[in-house]
Amino acid sequence: MSSLDDFAQEKLAALEAEGLKRTLAPTHRLDGLWVERGGRKLLSLSCNDYLGLTHDPRVIEAAIEAARTYGTGAGASRLVTGDHPLIEELEARLAAFKGTEAACVFSSGYQANAGSIPTFTQKGDVVLIDERAHSCIHAGGKLSDATVRTFAHNDVQDLKGKLAHLRGAARHILIVTEGVFSMDGDIAPLGEISDLAKEYDAWLMTDDAHGVGVVGGGHGTSAMFPDAEIHLQMGTLSKALASQGGYVCGSKATIDLLKTRARTFVYSTGLAPASAGAAIKALEIVENEPELCARPLEHARTFARALNLSPPQSAIVPVVLETPAAVMAAQAKLEDAGYLVVGIRPPTVPEGTSRLRLSFTALFPDPESEELATAVRGVMQS
Ligand SMILES: *Cc1c(COP(=O)(O)O)cnc(C)c1O
Repeated sequence: MSSLDDFAQEKLAALEAEGLKRTLAPTHRLDGLWVERGGRKLLSLSCNDYLGLTHDPRVIEAAIEAARTYGTGAGASRLVTGDHPLIEELEARLAAFKGTEAACVFSSGYQANAGSIPTFTQKGDVVLIDERAHSCIHAGGKLSDATVRTFAHNDVQDLKGKLAHLRGAARHILIVTEGVFSMDGDIAPLGEISDLAKEYDAWLMTDDAHGVGVVGGGHGTSAMFPDAEIHLQMGTLSKALASQGGYVCGSKATIDLLKTRARTFVYSTGLAPASAGAAIKALEIVENEPELCARPLEHARTFARALNLSPPQSAIVPVVLETPAAVMAAQAKLEDAGYLVVGIRPPTVPEGTSRLRLSFTALFPDPESEELATAVRGVMQS
């Protein structure tokens, strides 16, 4: 065995001992709501396919048509030959959807964040990130030569204090937060954050991976805070938009800079035609079907009421059980009851806050809330 294998095995053993080793479980998503796993059919509360559009015949057809017309892969980076017409169309539609001058599509949401933050910040600048923000936002901070600081989750006072402290020495300050937080389901106070950004001459970037298609009539958190000035609106095509890829919407100048400097854009192959075709169709559905977009939140609220939890602000309802062992046992029990609710452990969430994370989708059956609440109550008490 090589010393590399020794290294890997030691790491794995340590994670195993803490209950933090992760394993893959092949999952056949049958229709956007039901999944087959380990030979069993389960109702999933762990998919981010909020509108169930991954299995919508219109979206599937658009993906097939795109592959037939343009092939299965983009063939190169967009700056070489990978800029097929569907990507340009998708960008125009995303910009119109978000009401910005332009948009830049990346091959994933992770790449959008990891590439954008270092493009806009350099040595002498500060990136200020909400402490609960997604891992790829922190990764973007690490790839930047700027000083990176965090502020307490959704804490406007703490943000103000940090801005006041850092403003003097910093050339530029970029504040980065999520619209809807992926593991807590709460919403950032973007109105107040935008006011602070103005007061301290900082730029504001939001990640709305879990907002689009679900809140603000489907248009995301920016639509809930129409007066907020958000310079860079990042999002993903892989959740409510039922595809694969990420994007940033902003002014023409910021988007042009991304397209010439963001490493994850310049040095990565363009989005596959099928992904672009599917996303365009899904976006069209989001724009035309606000009733569909309202459903995930309605289901989340009905469930939370049945469990006496505080009213959710998004499709995501966390049930914190503290330890990794408790959460994995709860996942197994819910699986026995016919539900797939994947346990979330550190480092995805802070130590001591391992949780069940339930994400409700438009396809969740109306009368199911009570039964699910009973099952979850059972694992909360044991
Ligand atoms: C899922 C997610 C991403 C990453 O998007 P992908 O397209 O899956 O790479 C980024 N930010 C947040 C908040 C997410 O939940």
